[in-house]
Amino acid sequence: MKIYSKKFDLNLVHSFQTAHGADDIRHNAYVKIEEDGFEGFGEAAPLYYYNEYAHTVIEAVEKYKNINFGDFRNFRDVTEKMWMHVEGEYAAKAALDMAVYDMAGKASNLPLYKLAGINPENTPVTSYTIGIDTPEVIERKVLEAVEYPILKVKLGAGNDEDIMKCIRKLTDKTIRVDANCGWTVDEAVRKVQWLQDINVEFIEQPLPVDNIEGIKKIREVSKIPIIADESSKRACDIPGLFGAYDGINIKLMKCGGITEALKMIAMARTLNMKIMIGCMVETSLAVSAAAHLTPLVDYADLDGNLLIKNDQFTGVKVKNGKLILNDKPGLGVTCNEDFWN
Ligand code: MG
Repeated sequence: MKIYSKKFDLNLVHSFQTAHGADDIRHNAYVKIEEDGFEGFGEAAPLYYYNEYAHTVIEAVEKYKNINFGDFRNFRDVTEKMWMHVEGEYAAKAALDMAVYDMAGKASNLPLYKLAGINPENTPVTSYTIGIDTPEVIERKVLEAVEYPILKVKLGAGNDEDIMKCIRKLTDKTIRVDANCGWTVDEAVRKVQWLQDINVEFIEQPLPVDNIEGIKKIREVSKIPIIADESSKRACDIPGLFGAYDGINIKLMKCGGITEALKMIAMARTLNMKIMIGCMVETSLAVSAAAHLTPLVDYADLDGNLLIKNDQFTGVKVKNGKLILNDKPGLGVTCNEDFWN
């Protein structure tokens, strides 16, 4: 299997601020694999707070170049092998993993959802993310999001009441709230009671990653689900969240790809927990890979490609908020012609 990689910067439509920090640009990395006349594409959106960067993705991908993975059509063997060869670097693993599924799907002439026995009719409605900003900019973003029936609002930077008041003045749409670890227990207990009264559907990651006891206290007063994001990276994390969080947010970049995401879905379903599939700031390549799995989950937050100006790929579409998968083989993604030149 031939493996190529390159870095590419994504330019954001608006500066994107969460409780973790603000960005205008994201440094992603891409892989292309080739074998027997087929090719597969993959994307890595590494995040500094997981100590992963575009250059560490490229270094990790280099380590895979001389390994004999066997026949790529046995994609489960190949992706398991990939998992073992490099420590950490989950965004790099996600890129290679999705590229293998892409190529295996093309070789079978089946879209990934068919390869995996998933019904594409059952894709959920995706939310559209509103980052932390001034009331003027938030107002503009809410108006830009007119075609999306669900908003996901980032809180946790000290101006939560102002943001929510501003949005609720403009719309009565369903809102999901993501505090990105930004609250204390007392603050969260107070805010959850306020937010559930203004039609908020659920709250994502109110507290820092390890504060599981704090989540249990919030849950005692909360009528709406509390979803783990930063606390739920891979399948092995989920049993430790059971009994505290109501659900988990799966992202390919945190877990290391489709193979691990499917394990997380199975684990969370076994424990009767809610499941969301989310994304980082990514192009239509990684967003499409994740979208194939969304018929298996309760909520989708796949808008990373809608937040950038220079998407180099075409794939999943959104119609009135609903994710629409096409019937092209593999991930169903086409790449701008000169991207790899
Ligand atoms: Mg989140």
